[in-house]
Amino acid sequence: MVKSDPFANATKQVNDACDVLGIKDKELRNYLAMPNKVLRVKIPVKMDNGKIRVFTGFRSQHNNDRGPYKGGIRYFNPEGGVEYMEREVMALSSWMTWKCAIVDVPLGGGKGAIYVNPKTEKLSEGELERLTRGFAYKISEIIGPEKDIPAPDVYTTGREMTQIMDTFSKLNGNKYSPGVITGKPISMGGSLARNVATGLGTAYTVREAAKTLKLKLKGAKVVLQGFGNASTFAGEYLEKMGAKVIAVSDSKGSISIPKGAKVSKILEHKQKKGSVVGFPGSKKISTEELLTMKCDVLIPGALENQITAKIAKNLKCKIIAEAANGPTLPEADPVIYKKKILVVPDILANSGGVCISYLEWVQNNMGYYWTFDEVANKMEKNITKGFKDAFALSKKHKIDMRKATMVLAVERVLEAFNQKGIWP
Ligand code: NAD
Repeated sequence: MVKSDPFANATKQVNDACDVLGIKDKELRNYLAMPNKVLRVKIPVKMDNGKIRVFTGFRSQHNNDRGPYKGGIRYFNPEGGVEYMEREVMALSSWMTWKCAIVDVPLGGGKGAIYVNPKTEKLSEGELERLTRGFAYKISEIIGPEKDIPAPDVYTTGREMTQIMDTFSKLNGNKYSPGVITGKPISMGGSLARNVATGLGTAYTVREAAKTLKLKLKGAKVVLQGFGNASTFAGEYLEKMGAKVIAVSDSKGSISIPKGAKVSKILEHKQKKGSVVGFPGSKKISTEELLTMKCDVLIPGALENQITAKIAKNLKCKIIAEAANGPTLPEADPVIYKKKILVVPDILANSGGVCISYLEWVQNNMGYYWTFDEVANKMEKNITKGFKDAFALSKKHKIDMRKATMVLAVERVLEAFNQKGIWP
């Protein structure tokens, strides 16, 4: 797939929003686009064979005008290498700023990553733990419950979050600090509903989008790109709303399932065989065929830069809900808008995760915990309102939903920035 510069894409989105808002000042545009800080660290790890391997990690802190930085840590090795990863992390931290503002949670944007693929490189549990704790040590001075609160992302789980929390607590005189990180297991101060949050939030936004198009979700056909946390829960909750999954993919390939299948059945197959490929009754297809399949709802839920202008021309869906971050290239947006496909952009479609991360942090800080329904209902309110506010702006300014969500977010961040002013 195409390798474009993700940070250039993120910057373009900020500039587009500034155009709509009539912000001409280049310095202010620069302030809004650039991260406040990008920390690059090397992490020496003693491998099981006794040798030292040095990994590279990043933490980008984009904007904290509305509250502490917040954003995931991913373990991945994008094709463009370490330099590409730095740009990617900067872009992802920018999107986190806007995402928090859209759903109106009092947090800013951050993102972290280590250049490693724990799956293909087959790191042992011990090696992974030493890597995680080493990274936590290197970023410990810039994270904290009131400073920057990381969370899981691609190929990181509650286990890594617990190790980061434990390392941070030990470095701070054994001060119990569950609020330093979210996405923790329930026994470690995690929130109910956090594991399903992103996918559930995506499903809520699809429900709202479908209402505006008067599209019935009962019997609606859904295509999922990626079959991980975000995409599978989006699929499962859409199923509960009456929809049917007819194609899925993972890192090993894409399949179409003409008769449709329950997400739980495909998951069972993936757990047994290591991939969705080969699912009974399915046909192997290319990534392009998956993305351009005739369906009602397309959920790109895996990686960046998937929907190019060429793919956009051939799209045959009514709604795109971007569970993944940055799956659509900027040049594809006008093509999609012209085709009257309603896009729920990533900063809104996958904001259920950060909404419930925020609620986890609130629970940690007050030491009192809510039920699954209490948490899910609070998230539903924030994300539904975020969709409605952005949709109203898209109609008012006659702009697509990506621009509209950005306009809403930039307005909210600017309001906080203007209240605070600059010091010193
Ligand atoms: P995950 O690790 O659970 O799943 C990733 C999935 O993508 C896996 O099924 C993997 O096989 C698949 N994949 C990898 N390469 C692929 C390829 N070339 N083609 C098709 N599929 C491929 O990760 P996740 O947490 O579900 O995250 C997925 C996306 O959602 C990322 O962009 C992430 O930033 C975004 N996101 C996740 C959360 C969350 O809470 N999990 C929150 C916000 C955004």
